[in-house]
Amino acid sequence: MTTFADLGLSQKVLSAVTDAGYTVPTPIQAGAIPPALMRRDICGIAQTGTGKTASFVLPMLTLLEKGRARARMPRTLILEPTRELAAQVAENFEKYGKNHKLNIALLIGGVSFEEQDRKLERGADVLICTPGRLLDHCERGKLLMTGVEILVIDEADRMLDMGFIPDIERIAKLIPFTRQTLFFSATMPPEIQKLADRFLQNPERIEVAKPSSTALTVTQRLIASPTKDYEKRAILREIIREQTDLKNAIIFCNRKKDVADLFRSLERHGFSVGALHGDMDQRSRTNMLAGFKDNQITLLVASDVAARGLDIPDVSHVFNFDVPIHAEDYVHRIGRTGRAGRSGAAFTLVTKSDTKYLDAIEKMISKKIEWHNGDLSSLPAPAEGEKDERRGRGKGRDRDRRPAAKAAEPSHKADTANVQDSVESAEEVVATKVDSVKQERKADNRSNQGNRDKRHQSPNPANDDHRERRRNHYRDQDDGPTPIGFGDDIPAFMLIVANAKA
Ligand code: AMP
Repeated sequence: MTTFADLGLSQKVLSAVTDAGYTVPTPIQAGAIPPALMRRDICGIAQTGTGKTASFVLPMLTLLEKGRARARMPRTLILEPTRELAAQVAENFEKYGKNHKLNIALLIGGVSFEEQDRKLERGADVLICTPGRLLDHCERGKLLMTGVEILVIDEADRMLDMGFIPDIERIAKLIPFTRQTLFFSATMPPEIQKLADRFLQNPERIEVAKPSSTALTVTQRLIASPTKDYEKRAILREIIREQTDLKNAIIFCNRKKDVADLFRSLERHGFSVGALHGDMDQRSRTNMLAGFKDNQITLLVASDVAARGLDIPDVSHVFNFDVPIHAEDYVHRIGRTGRAGRSGAAFTLVTKSDTKYLDAIEKMISKKIEWHNGDLSSLPAPAEGEKDERRGRGKGRDRDRRPAAKAAEPSHKADTANVQDSVESAEEVVATKVDSVKQERKADNRSNQGNRDKRHQSPNPANDDHRERRRNHYRDQDDGPTPIGFGDDIPAFMLIVANAKA
């Protein structure tokens, strides 16, 4: 059996690995570390949870033992799609590099430039960045990339999803061609393969898990659900309460607005819950994640972008509040549980409008997922259109679906939840009333935006290109379009006034 000592790592690194309690390298580590130490390019196809981070951090630490950093000329560069992943890689450098005296600089959004400048002045051995913030530093003339010996592009498929590829191409042009490149991606769609072909020279290819496979230890189930959000929330609560072995769970939503709504709703219903989405400031995100890791929070509602690649060990359950639109996101979400051979459970709420996405998922994972309590045909048909559906939810059908769960709750809690259920129904009614007004406002906004765009059109295409990059680079702080004004969160009373005027 291969041991860490067989891989060619330095004594300092081996001793830190022993202290971390690792005895056997994972397949990606055994495959990537020896060629990386020989300065070969690497194309690693590995999901998070496979020990992928150490597979580039350990050889980098060994290689960095020779040589010294110069002011504003980093020696190595690691690109990560999100701030959390960047911070996580920095933690790995601290853990495995505890016997080294290396300067690690983390350049992410939401942190002051001054602090980061000071680190760069001292000379960084390792620079860990989100693409936008790095380009910002380069533009400010604070950073020279000509000394970079090793470039790591991590989570390449996620970079593609987030629109970072043009930024990465710009960054790669600033780095000497003679560099060593370590490239990692969980999946290898054609666009990513093309990128790898452009960036890598004669790479060693290591593939440790089929990108389309889900762990065998995860029990996957589908839950037939009506389409309204408040109905989905009620069904989700019911499923959560059913799980006697639930230790902690991540609940995924497709949109960040739903993350916020679901978080508030679960909180109102007395669950121990946190949220993670791109609109939160860095401090809140870090605190939230720490609370979840320390088991102070049981449920974490998250969007794909915010949760992707985070190292949260031992999650017992994953709930998909929405069926993911991209089938590979399903694989990533499910990958949060059942890690390292542990058992896990994943439940996905499916509405009638989700069937094409579900088909794509089942095709990708090459198997049919079982329904938990009957498939979509078992859902009661809405009797008389939306209005009745709404009324029925508060009083009859929904309550009938979960008598055991309600009975199990303390009566005051059940009463409160009943009131809250009605509040949510009422909210839904108001939401529907104001929907048309919102549509009108959106149409107005769009036409105003069109006028603004026209006013700002530059005769110089280079400026447009620059502006597009600036727009994109803020994506590391976000996971969706930034709303104008109140966005979708316009207080209902304001809309009602607008309605009265019309
Ligand atoms: P990653 O895929 O880099 O997110 O790593 C997933 C988890 O595996 C992290 O918590 C690591 O600390 C842990 N890990 C990394 N390498 C090993 C190893 N050789 N043996 C056991 N655990 C490891």
